[in-house]
Amino acid sequence: MNDCYGCGVCAIACPKTIIKIQLNKNGFYEPKITDIHKCLDCGICIDVCSFVHNEIVSNNSVLRSYASWSNDPNVRRKCSSGGIGFEVGRTLIKEGYKVCGVRYNPEKGIAEHYISDTIEDLVQSIGSKYIQSYTVDGFKSIDRNNKYLVIGTPCQIDSFRRYIRKFKIEDNFVLMDFFCHSVPSKLMWDKYLHRVEKVTGKTLYASWRNKFNGWHDSWAISIDGDKTGKPIDWHDSYNILVSEKKAYWNSRWSQGDIFYKLFLGDYCSNPACSKSCKFKYDRSSADIRIGDLWGKTYENDKDGVSAAVAFTEKGNDVLHKTDCVLVSHTFETVAEGQMKHNIKPARTAFLVKYILRLNARSIPKIIWNSIFMIERILRAPSKFYKRLK
Ligand SMILES: Cc1cc2nc3c(=O)[nH]c(=O)nc-3n(C[C@H](O)[C@H](O)[C@H](O)COP(=O)(O)OP(=O)(O)OC[C@H]3O[C@@H](n4cnc5c(N)ncnc54)[C@H](O)[C@@H]3O)c2cc1C
Repeated sequence: MNDCYGCGVCAIACPKTIIKIQLNKNGFYEPKITDIHKCLDCGICIDVCSFVHNEIVSNNSVLRSYASWSNDPNVRRKCSSGGIGFEVGRTLIKEGYKVCGVRYNPEKGIAEHYISDTIEDLVQSIGSKYIQSYTVDGFKSIDRNNKYLVIGTPCQIDSFRRYIRKFKIEDNFVLMDFFCHSVPSKLMWDKYLHRVEKVTGKTLYASWRNKFNGWHDSWAISIDGDKTGKPIDWHDSYNILVSEKKAYWNSRWSQGDIFYKLFLGDYCSNPACSKSCKFKYDRSSADIRIGDLWGKTYENDKDGVSAAVAFTEKGNDVLHKTDCVLVSHTFETVAEGQMKHNIKPARTAFLVKYILRLNARSIPKIIWNSIFMIERILRAPSKFYKRLK
C-alpha cells in the first residue's frame, strides 16, 4: 500500500487478525496483510479506515473554544503548552476511565500508545512526541467493557471513531485529538538519535519540548542516555513533574536543531499529511481538540497556554470538570496560530527521502545544510514573483 495514514485501526478491527502494521521503506507505518487466504472479504478494515473515506466521520462544528492552563504550576511547567491534555486525563481517571495516550519507549526508539489507569502511569504521556506513534498494542488492549479517553492525531482519532461507531460502543469513549502539523519520518528520528547517542550513550529518556527558555522557545529536544543519566522509574514519575533537571543533550529549534529544521520545514513528513490530510483547523472527529494557543492574545505568556476546543457537549462537560483555568474566546482567536491548509512538501523532499534511506546511520550536518541552501534557492524565484504581483 502506498498511501495510508498508518493509524493502525484496521489491524485491531480485522476479525482474522491478519493485518500487521509495520514501517515502510520511507519510515512511515503502513498495513501489511500477512495471509490473504484467510481474508473473509468482510470489509471491516475499509469501514474503519479514515484514509479511504473522503469525508471525516463526525464532522461536528465547534461548540465552544477556550484558552486554558492547569492550576497546578508543576503540570503547566512540564507539559507542552498549558497542560490541558494531562488534566483531561487526570480528571477522567478519577472518574473511573482509563487513558490510551502516547509515551516514548526508549528501548524500541518509538512513540507508542499505551493504557494508563493511574495518574502515575499517565505522567509518561506528558509532552508531545513529534514522531508517528505505533498504535496497535495500545488500541488492542482496550476492552469493550471499560470507559476510555483515547488521545491521538486527528487521523488516528477519525479511524478510531469509525471503529467504536461500527461496534456500537461509542458511549464508553471520550476522544481527544490536537491541531496537527504532520508526522515526520521515523528514519529521520533514527538518524538523529544515532548522532546524539555518540554523546549520551543508549537513550533512556527523550522529550521534545521543555520550557527552560520559556514556552515560546520550547521546541527543544532533551535526551539522557546511559552514559549521562539514570533510568527513569515511571512509578515514581510524578516527581519528574517537579524536577528542574536539565537533560544532558539539549538542542533547540531556535539554535538550528536539525530534527526541528527537517520536521517543521516539512522536508520529511508523511506524504499522506500533505496530500490527504482532511483535519486541519476546525475539522475533527474528536470530542475535544487541544493545541498550543499561539497568536497575539497570549504572546507575552511564558508559562504556556493550551487551546481547548469542544466539538460535543460531552467534550465540553469534561473540560469544565478539569482543574484548569478556561477562558472563552472565539475559535478564530483560539486557533490563530494554526494551519488552515495542509503542509506543502519541500521541493527538495525527494533528496531528503533518498538520503534518509542511505545506510549511513547518521548524516553529516554539511549535507543537511546544502539541502537547506538548495531549498532556499528553489524557493527564491517564487517569492520574488509573489512580491512583483
Ligand atoms: C505530531 C504532533 C504534531 C502537532 N502539531 C501541532 C500543531 O500544529 N499545532 C498545535 O497547536 N499543536 C500541535 N501538537 C500538539 C501540541 O504539541 C501539544 O500536545 C498540545 O499543545 C497539548 O499540550 P498539553 O500541554 O495540553 O499537554 P501534553 O502533556 O503535552 O499532551 C500531549 C498529549 O499528546 C499525546 N501525544 C503525544 N505524542 C503523541 C503522538 N506522537 N501521537 C499521538 N498523540 C501524542 C499524549 O498522549 C498527550 O496526551 C502536535 C503534537 C504532535 C504529537
